[in-house]
Amino acid sequence: MTSAATTGLPLASRTDLLVGSVIDSSTSLLARQTHDIVRFAMGSPAAEAIPTEALAEAARTELGTPASYDYAATEGDPGLRAALLEMLAGTTDATTDERLTITAGGMQGLDLAAKLFIDPGDLVTVESPTYTNGSATALAYQAELAEIEVDEDGMSIDALRAAVDRAGRPPKVIYTVPTFQNPSGTSMSLDRRRELLELARSWGSVVLDDDPYGMLRFAGDPVPSLHELADGDPLVFSVRTFSKIVAPGLRVGWVDADPSLAQLLIHAKQSMDTCTNLPAQRLVAGFLRSGRLEVHLAEQREEYRRRKDTMQQALAEHFSGRATWTDPEGGFFLWVSFDEQVDTEALFETALAEGVAYIPGNAFSPARRFPHDLRLCFASTPTDRIHEGVARLARAVDVAAGP
Ligand code: PMP
Repeated sequence: MTSAATTGLPLASRTDLLVGSVIDSSTSLLARQTHDIVRFAMGSPAAEAIPTEALAEAARTELGTPASYDYAATEGDPGLRAALLEMLAGTTDATTDERLTITAGGMQGLDLAAKLFIDPGDLVTVESPTYTNGSATALAYQAELAEIEVDEDGMSIDALRAAVDRAGRPPKVIYTVPTFQNPSGTSMSLDRRRELLELARSWGSVVLDDDPYGMLRFAGDPVPSLHELADGDPLVFSVRTFSKIVAPGLRVGWVDADPSLAQLLIHAKQSMDTCTNLPAQRLVAGFLRSGRLEVHLAEQREEYRRRKDTMQQALAEHFSGRATWTDPEGGFFLWVSFDEQVDTEALFETALAEGVAYIPGNAFSPARRFPHDLRLCFASTPTDRIHEGVARLARAVDVAAGP
């Protein structure tokens, strides 16, 4: 934590609430390592899944004029908005132009939601475990957080009701990653989605629907998004991103929200970046217009299924009887739970020395409820390396346990 005392500068008191991202600090730590490490830590797409050729082609056709580098509309470039509407047509996230705001990735969507809805002291529920940068954003806006248990059907609605009873007031915002959740990999069932919307309506809460992985389903039956189920009810604020389906470094995403919020979103965004990054939007639009997205997604789904299956096999080989883990139907992550002997924060250094990286469970819980769990990203590592990485993790657990 940085405080006025340590910098000598008159910092705002809210800086005490900027908790920092464990994921980002692990990335910096990893960047300093010189030995071979199997990286299950970051939630990056597979290197092979970045459509570099199609993007290079888009750069040639879309970025050839000075106008491509000009200041641009805050709500997003009309070309990308049109291509995005077409991409979403017929999907569970189908929408209309007046609901869209183009953002700098999903993170800016989360920040915008917090900026619009959270007053200091407001109750915000987050999943437990939750996406750490999402809960950190709510905290930065001085929310009071309540953690709601997640099981194999996603966020527990009973636990949500109980937490609200305990708090004695409804949540202002209910934050959820409903599909292939980061970090657990589980998805919220259709019944729970419906119940959640009903409860949110009765409480007057906003449902912050953060769904970056929904298009990456490789098993099981599709479940309608909260956006679709809300059927135009203004209570759902949806945050989406191209980070997982095209490329994270482009920093392009979108918010799908009630049209009554459109002008406010522009105003809120103007104090962040005023004009949304035009070259990045043009690259994405060019890629979408190339007509390659469908094939690209199909290839990604197939490869991620293979990688997930490989990780399941490797975990079964090395950890049967010693841990349990989730079996996601899409997305990037699975969640491993050990018994009380294994402290995954303490294990991290040993794992790094053995040549494997993950994110400890406590990173995903403001109340640090997961000392014996960890998140593994299966998406970014080729299958042969997945075997090696899980074997190294097993060695690390053995070394940490001692003779
Ligand atoms: N929400 C969730 C659940 C995520 O997993 C991520 C990316 N890890 C984001 C939001 C942020 O997306 P972006 O990288 O596009 O900002």
